[in-house]
Amino acid sequence: MFESPLRNLPKMDVLLAHPFLDRAREAMPRSALRAAARAVLEEVRAQGGASPTAVPGVDELARRVERRLGALGQPHLRRVINATGIPLHTNLGRAPLAEAAAQAAYEAARGYSNLEYSLDTGKRGARHSHIEELLCKLTGAEAALAVNNNAAAVFLMLTALAAGKNVAVSRGELVEIGGGFRVPDIMARSGCHLVEVGTTNKTRLSDYGNSNAQCLLKVHTSNYALVGFTEETTLGEMASLGLPLLYDLGSGALNAESFPSLPGPTVAKALEDGADVVCFSGDKLLGGPQAGLIVGKRAYIETMRRDPMARAFRMGKLGLAALEATLLLYAESPQSIPLLHMLNAPPQVLRARAEELAHRCGGEAVSVTGQVGGGSMPNVDLPSWAVAVKATPEYLRSLPTPVVARMHGGKTLLDVRTLTGEDMDALVEMLGHG
Ligand SMILES: *Cc1c(COP(=O)(O)O)cnc(C)c1O
Repeated sequence: MFESPLRNLPKMDVLLAHPFLDRAREAMPRSALRAAARAVLEEVRAQGGASPTAVPGVDELARRVERRLGALGQPHLRRVINATGIPLHTNLGRAPLAEAAAQAAYEAARGYSNLEYSLDTGKRGARHSHIEELLCKLTGAEAALAVNNNAAAVFLMLTALAAGKNVAVSRGELVEIGGGFRVPDIMARSGCHLVEVGTTNKTRLSDYGNSNAQCLLKVHTSNYALVGFTEETTLGEMASLGLPLLYDLGSGALNAESFPSLPGPTVAKALEDGADVVCFSGDKLLGGPQAGLIVGKRAYIETMRRDPMARAFRMGKLGLAALEATLLLYAESPQSIPLLHMLNAPPQVLRARAEELAHRCGGEAVSVTGQVGGGSMPNVDLPSWAVAVKATPEYLRSLPTPVVARMHGGKTLLDVRTLTGEDMDALVEMLGHG
């Protein structure tokens, strides 16, 4: 009769008693060992043991259990060096925090804070109180609110202010923002009735005016660009209709001083042009932590704050601490915010850094064209500099601090726009020749 080679698998207790696991038995709870051993045995069973040689011996199995336990102790989420030159790389965590912001998050993490406590009165305080005044000062808004991310901010804005109402949106702005977050779907979920106006390439003021809208929504098409025979109704024109005007700005710079040489709408300008409520991301062009920031008329912000979804979407204390610190930097020294520093770096500075890196770790400095990333400014080319190196992208990813490079024209490029001084030193240590 056919006898399955799986019958030769050792019993769990025999495997756990193996000398290879002596150290693990001392260092780890029995339950962790059992779980790892069970997973290894199940893996072998799943492969079926099609032939007797396919079943590993007990030494090999013990080694696999040990490896599995070792991997458990290592964090899976790791620091990487972003050498893509894309400052808002969504897959690499978008904006890096300023030192002061990271420090604030660290302090908030390791102790207690007056998160919802008033040190004046000794009574309960408001979570949003820490950032509201700063946001108002920086953007000229009457009131402000922060939630967990901008997708949540868009939903909260629509459901709290426009549920049950006809909301007009230009057909050119019915976009998918990313990860399946589509404006028409989110409107349906929030209880609004979408009224599509205009066409994909042209939407005029009269299209909004002739619709049965009770509220207007403008969506900044931050991840794609309409070029050619196009016409867009400005916020100012839309405001002239006198209906509540909501604006999902997505990736907005706070004000005109943030990026002097880059085009694009700012939060301050949107409010000035007549938007009643503007929402935008904390970790895109603002250069802070993940957050959804909502600014505008006090009555609307208050309504949003009272909505139960505001509680569901509230920010955590780490993010809030980092956000306040970032906003404080806007008042004191905006260029110490890494994102602003990277995006405003002049080409000649980048060139000097590329030449220095090429000299220190081998390779050739080359001029390249970069992108902002994070679905921001798709039609803006950033002149930048990079070092073309011999190493393959796979090799760079396998380094002790993994390096994510850029491939262009068959070359592996390290774009210096997104490299800090610390990154450059780490690169030299890992790749350098002395
Ligand atoms: C990025 C973006 C969002 C989503 O913001 P998150 O902070 O990623 O949740 C929404 N709307 C627009 C226009 C965006 O660009």
